Amino acid sequence: MIPLASPLAQYRAHGEAIRHAIHRVLESGTYILGREVEQFERAFADYCGTAHAVSVASGTDALVLGLKALGIGPGDEVITVSHTAIATVAAILAAGADPVLVDVEPDYFTIDAGAIEGALTGQTKAIVAVHLYGQPTDMEAVAAVASRHGLRLIEDCAQAAGARYRGNRVGGIGDIGCFSFYPTKNLGAIGDGGMVVTKDAGIAGDIRRLRQYGWGEGRETAGIGVNSRLDPIQAAILGSKLPSLDQDNARRAAIAARYDAAFREMPLVTPQVRPDVEHVYHLYVAACDDRDRFREFLRKRGVETGIHYPKPAHWQKGYAERIRVAPGGLGATERLAGRIVSLPIYPELTDAEADEVIAAVRAYYAA
Ligand SMILES: *Cc1c(COP(=O)(O)O)cnc(C)c1O
Repeated sequence: MIPLASPLAQYRAHGEAIRHAIHRVLESGTYILGREVEQFERAFADYCGTAHAVSVASGTDALVLGLKALGIGPGDEVITVSHTAIATVAAILAAGADPVLVDVEPDYFTIDAGAIEGALTGQTKAIVAVHLYGQPTDMEAVAAVASRHGLRLIEDCAQAAGARYRGNRVGGIGDIGCFSFYPTKNLGAIGDGGMVVTKDAGIAGDIRRLRQYGWGEGRETAGIGVNSRLDPIQAAILGSKLPSLDQDNARRAAIAARYDAAFREMPLVTPQVRPDVEHVYHLYVAACDDRDRFREFLRKRGVETGIHYPKPAHWQKGYAERIRVAPGGLGATERLAGRIVSLPIYPELTDAEADEVIAAVRAYYAA
């Protein structure tokens, strides 16, 4: 079976460096924060082109603590999309705020900036722009709305480590950028991890306090916090993999280009890419009308497929009753939910395997 993603293949590709990194931490005697975490934070900030990077325990926590550091909490509304990983919406709720969900642009699957103003109320405090599947959102349009209305702008970069918008890495465009190091993400740990990047020293300092009980200088607190630290073993592993991220992303883009070229002649709708971005293809998501039959056919041919995501947030149990849908509705989101399908893409996928995927899709449409 050709899997959708393969964290095992990624581990094997970096095995020696990963084992070396783990061993270094074991022998260092420092098992919470310390040098390994600081070095990785510095390297990641430099990579993103931001002054500061503060690591936390997961991508979800990056969003939760980031929102809190921006002063967002109970009584505040935060605008984002329903077409995203549920973690985006879970984080807004965990920060105590109320998610307001707007539609996506049907061609790019990212937030429709034109729908944001219709969703604003006196309580709106922020926008979370999700760079879904690895493609940067139309940040100029979203930032214009944010600045016109004095809103904070958060980039959910969990699926887009290394992507560029008009030449700049994502994460440094808004007030904060939040990353996940979940094993299948473009920069994946051997477990959980997350990061907040920002140009603002004050915000960075607030997140450093929030991630450790509220501790400031001399372990005195200035307010309450949680325990959400990046493990030094994960930091050392991630630091050893960061230099390969651009190469891994280029490999993902090459596979996507191979798929695009082959599928052009078929009824499958391939991803649209904005002319001013560098898409890093966390996922390769196409759209088709007869998805269940398509997936079953590919499964029988040994090709795993997925759906990201089968149910938008406003249809999810436990969430539906806690969110507000923007007045314009979620027509594009709901139409996509029934048609999207994800095909295998990861840096270690070989050309021969990509060709097997293509052959299976071709056979489906020939049948
Ligand atoms: C993975 C992901 C998250 C959450 O990251 P975790 O590290 O799993 O907590 C948030 N937003 C998006 C868009 C994601 O894909």
